[in-house]
Amino acid sequence: MKSLINNPTNNKTTFNQYLIKACRDSVSGASLANLLINIAECTKKIAALTSKGKLVRSVENVGATNVQGEIQINLDVLSNELFVSSLKQSGLVSGLVSEELDDAYLIDEVGNGNKFLVVFDPLDGSSNVDVNVSVGSIFSIYKDNLGSLDFLEPGNAQIAAGYALYGPCTMLVITLGHGVQGFTLDTETQEFVLTHSNIRIPETTSDFSINSSNERHWEAPVQRYIDSCKAGVTGVRGRDFNMRWVASMVADVHRILMRGGVYLYPYDNKQPTKAGRLRLLYEANPMSFIVEQAGGKSSTGRKRVLDIKPDEIHQRVPVIMGARLEVSLIELYHSEFDSTQPKEKDSIAPKQSEFTKSS
Ligand code: MN
Ligand code: MN
Repeated sequence: MKSLINNPTNNKTTFNQYLIKACRDSVSGASLANLLINIAECTKKIAALTSKGKLVRSVENVGATNVQGEIQINLDVLSNELFVSSLKQSGLVSGLVSEELDDAYLIDEVGNGNKFLVVFDPLDGSSNVDVNVSVGSIFSIYKDNLGSLDFLEPGNAQIAAGYALYGPCTMLVITLGHGVQGFTLDTETQEFVLTHSNIRIPETTSDFSINSSNERHWEAPVQRYIDSCKAGVTGVRGRDFNMRWVASMVADVHRILMRGGVYLYPYDNKQPTKAGRLRLLYEANPMSFIVEQAGGKSSTGRKRVLDIKPDEIHQRVPVIMGARLEVSLIELYHSEFDSTQPKEKDSIAPKQSEFTKSS
């Protein structure tokens, strides 16, 4: 037994072993596996950085603002640099899009059909770093089809997606389009080990996750859904619900993958010109791919997220994801609401086109 304790990875599948098997049958399998190993190495470095907290801030904040106008703190910048340099060095990527970069970063001058495009949020929920609450990295991989360097493909063209969660332990959760696997970082061997195979989201739930301080700005169907949850046993749902909100998308969606639930960052009219809060390419799409692969559903309330054709790389989108039957119910509330709205220009129901416009 002693050897088992000293070597907790005994008889366990490592991330690399999993990839060798999982990528065996696809044409670009070996290079995809190598790319994913590259990204996993990068997340280990970010895990080490975030675990140092304030101790890592030997360099002063650069004070620059990113494209969404948020103040960048050092760890965002450092995490972004780690991603960019490791993807460049891999030789497998022809271009990338990052939350931290205004424009797409082209590694090759012309595209390369044998290579990949990677889009990522290097540090999600980064304001949580200051209060020592979980953060993560989110990434999504596309084939650089025909070498077109086209980042505006819908999310249904993703060939792989994943996230790292830097919590009490570091986890890497990925999909290659055949289910969802979760790996835990063994800090002694620095190896990701398969600990959660074939993660599934129960189709129904009594947990919801939303920033309810925005309640007065929500659309009627979202208000109706949350009201029905809060009414508990005395309401139409006939049971009590729990609310959970970490304010870090990776952590909130991870909880849903582990425990079930539904996560909403819906359209609201706080800033009516913004289609939503979350970014389509490197937040909504990879998480939607993972949630669907775990048997869940992901929608704007009116449309499947993965079917949206992006107009621009930093586009925002409303997101409702998680338990399949709950998301379907919320979609039904939207369609019932829309059917009662006048079709004239003064309709308060946002038109579908507004959800695919840049903000
Ligand atoms: Mn983010
Ligand atoms: Mn971020």
